[in-house]
Amino acid sequence: MSGNSASTYKDLDAIVLGAGACGLMCAVQAGYLGKKVLVLEKNDKPGAKILISGGGRCNYTNLYASHQNFISENEHFSKSAFAQWTVQDTISFFETYGISGQEKTLGQLFPTTNKAKDIIKVFTDICEDFGQSIRCNSEVQKVISVENGFEVTFKDSVTGNEHQVYAPNVVVATGGLPIAKMGATDFALRLARQFGLNLTSTAPALVPLTVTGKDHDWYEQLSGTSIFSRVSNHKISFDENILFTHWGLSGPAILQISSYWRPGEKITIDLLPDSNIVDLIEEERNHSGKKLLASFLEKFYSKKFVEAMKKYLPVDKNLASLSKDDLLSIEELIHQFSVKPAGDKGYDKAEVMRGGIDTSELSSKTLEAKKVPGLFFGGECVDVTGWLGGYNFQWAWASGFVIAQNI
Ligand SMILES: Cc1cc2nc3c(=O)[nH]c(=O)nc-3n(C[C@H](O)[C@H](O)[C@H](O)COP(=O)(O)OP(=O)(O)OC[C@H]3O[C@@H](n4cnc5c(N)ncnc54)[C@H](O)[C@@H]3O)c2cc1C
Repeated sequence: MSGNSASTYKDLDAIVLGAGACGLMCAVQAGYLGKKVLVLEKNDKPGAKILISGGGRCNYTNLYASHQNFISENEHFSKSAFAQWTVQDTISFFETYGISGQEKTLGQLFPTTNKAKDIIKVFTDICEDFGQSIRCNSEVQKVISVENGFEVTFKDSVTGNEHQVYAPNVVVATGGLPIAKMGATDFALRLARQFGLNLTSTAPALVPLTVTGKDHDWYEQLSGTSIFSRVSNHKISFDENILFTHWGLSGPAILQISSYWRPGEKITIDLLPDSNIVDLIEEERNHSGKKLLASFLEKFYSKKFVEAMKKYLPVDKNLASLSKDDLLSIEELIHQFSVKPAGDKGYDKAEVMRGGIDTSELSSKTLEAKKVPGLFFGGECVDVTGWLGGYNFQWAWASGFVIAQNI
């Protein structure tokens, strides 16, 4: 898989930069079409992020994925790729190689074996069958245009030697900025700039949010508390769990909204999204007005959370004695809990990068750069960012497939 002399890589149809989800799918699909590619990967193994994804279980697609689950300056851009490679194509592809999926929640599909490494093995096995080379420990340094294609320079991290390889096409699948220690680099962004392609602004997404200042201690004491909530901003709402942490807020609903959040903005949390707390109180006080608000709230929340609510609500009053103003405060706090995050936890904790190669620079049908024939961009480095729940892999597979058809 690695260590071949660079001179052995001849008559390539393409050089694929990065053996992540997009690059591996591209290599495999190219193999089906009888096209020969060389995949260059800086890590010592392919698929580092696949391996850690979904808590090591790899949420490899989502049954309900459509272009509407993606953020991009052009929300229509991904439609063509998703029409060419559908969720059903992902499911059938893995089934062909013995991986069936189980839905965990909200359409999220995981291998029944629960092992992300099984997903990687599918790609490495097929590449081996087709004789597609995946060269690990090979960090791409430079790509330049030459006659009839591109010269790619990479450095072998074992020997320290630099090598040049040539091909008529280059596929940039080096991913986004999250988690540098897993191999993430800004290579795709630098290369795009070098070729004069525009970038949209990039930021961590699917990332925990921080709370600082006077509220910090209140959040910290609740660390570990999880509550099913509806988290909203002026653009969108997500109904999933939130998780209080030492630094602020995390959990799926927070990760989802983080992709739509901009510094300085507030988010609103409905801590009881499927009922109205005041209606429930009115109902309850018809039966037992003597009940303390604290014990009533413990029907819905942990003791720890109710205790922390003391800061905002008269939890020691009984239900019968709650005034109109009390009820208004309760309703506001439970259904419109407002948070102004100080920031996010950054690329070390983000699952994905928002923004990237401006989609207006690429053909939506082929993912080839309009200004640079033969140069393709796929996966996370493109300004197409999926929600939490298998959507980002669906984009990586689809874009890898599309590129393979066109190299
Ligand atoms: C903790 C975590 C969990 C996740 N879980 C899920 C999940 O369950 N479901 C889901 O859909 N998405 C998940 N994601 C997101 C998903 O992993 C990415 O969106 C996806 O891997 C992007 O695929 P890619 O091929 O574009 O990039 P990557 O998979 O990141 O692959 C890029 C590859 O390029 C290599 N590379 C970078 N620079 C160079 C260079 N200069 N030379 C050579 N190689 C280079 C990198 O080492 C890497 O192997 C998760 C992400 C994280 C961080």
